[in-house]
Amino acid sequence: MGDLLVMKFGGTSMGSAERIRVAARLTSEQSAKRPVVVVVSAMSKVTDLLLDSLRKAEAGDQADLDANLEKLSERHRECCRGLLPKEKQDQATAGVERLIADFARIAKGVMMLGERPPRSVDEAVAVGERLSAYLMALHMECEGIPAVAVNAADVIATDAVFGNATPLMEPTRARAAAVLRPLLDQHKVPVVTGFNGSTLDHRPTTLGRGGSDFSASILAAVLDAAELWIWTDVDGIMSGDPRLVSDARVLPEITYAEAAELAYNGAKVLHPRTLAPLAERGIPVWSKNSFAPEKPGTRILPRVDAGHGPHAVTSMTDVALVSMEPASAAVSGTKLMARALDGLARANVEILAFTSSSYRQSFCFLVRQSELERALEFLEEDLALELVHGYLKPIEVDADVGLIAVVGEGMRGTPGLAGRMFTAISKHNINIIAIAQGSSELTIAIVVRRSGLEQAVRAIHGEF
Ligand code: ASP
Ligand code: MG
Repeated sequence: MGDLLVMKFGGTSMGSAERIRVAARLTSEQSAKRPVVVVVSAMSKVTDLLLDSLRKAEAGDQADLDANLEKLSERHRECCRGLLPKEKQDQATAGVERLIADFARIAKGVMMLGERPPRSVDEAVAVGERLSAYLMALHMECEGIPAVAVNAADVIATDAVFGNATPLMEPTRARAAAVLRPLLDQHKVPVVTGFNGSTLDHRPTTLGRGGSDFSASILAAVLDAAELWIWTDVDGIMSGDPRLVSDARVLPEITYAEAAELAYNGAKVLHPRTLAPLAERGIPVWSKNSFAPEKPGTRILPRVDAGHGPHAVTSMTDVALVSMEPASAAVSGTKLMARALDGLARANVEILAFTSSSYRQSFCFLVRQSELERALEFLEEDLALELVHGYLKPIEVDADVGLIAVVGEGMRGTPGLAGRMFTAISKHNINIIAIAQGSSELTIAIVVRRSGLEQAVRAIHGEF
């Protein structure tokens, strides 16, 4: 399948009848030339609505749950009316109602239990993607493009970490060969649900919020696709957040490593785990705008001829800096660090940046505010003895900070860049709280006061 193209349409690209028409047209332009697999997100905001409905169900709130179900139904019925010919309306509405009934059945179970078992949540939220895949495939059929909706629970095999599962690539390869190849051989376009999968014993899972990008890259990898196109509502990956930086521009080309750094450091264009499955096979990715398909977008490749200097700057606000320091020189800072990192690993908390000083053996690390409570719980439990006996100073938390990440392969081995960044920031009288640069020299992470974050981002973008 040397020339296979995988195309993924995000929530806004699937957000209405009109948008689904465009997605189908973009698909048919390509499927006329080569085999295509489509991966779709739920219509925009539908996943939020489903998750909210499950919370309502857990709380026993029947009236609010019913109101949500009505909203869900109306949104998709409206889409049917705008998308499909008269003679298909009854079939389409019945199909939509069947899927919504699946969701309602699980929500009812949640209400009876008074809790939301993770695997039931995963099965229920995937209904958003099943609805959009169903409507897209039906519309394509009506337009004379043979297409089949496919539930990724039958294709993507994962571990059993419900809500944030990791794919098992070899079993997924076998499932994709069994489910998708026959469709491609019959010249049909599989329209696969993004976001979901199932364990080896077929319990439903999801890949984490925004996971449809990841679904698409998993399928591109196991099908040995020639390319992956990710359709969103922005022109591509940008040199800075356009809401902060007025002269931010679309980057024509960046590397997998740069794109992954940007995604992990808060750029919203790609799910952070998207690029990993592709890197090994070097499958190129395009990030494109379905609202302006004539624009080239950004091409993501294993290597690009980068100039010297950073490529892009991104920032994160909902973060907190945690600082730890031994209370006396008799305590090994290295041991404390090891204990702290072990606790964070077991708490499943991601460290966004880490720095340490050698003499006082103090260290600090940056985590997401949403993970702060869990991080502190594990740290305080693991280090309870040290804290009680005064070997460790009380753990300090500063949540009034923001992270800036300056990313670019071209920074490697180029002296003077950090100096220029810091000078640009200091001109605005913004104090730098912590700095981290890994020896790959791909990213420089800078922690500043929250109030100075936007200014600092603009200053750095302006400098380069
Ligand atoms: N619909 C899912 C979400 O909103 C997955 C996705 O859109 O990528 O998180
Ligand atoms: Mg998305």
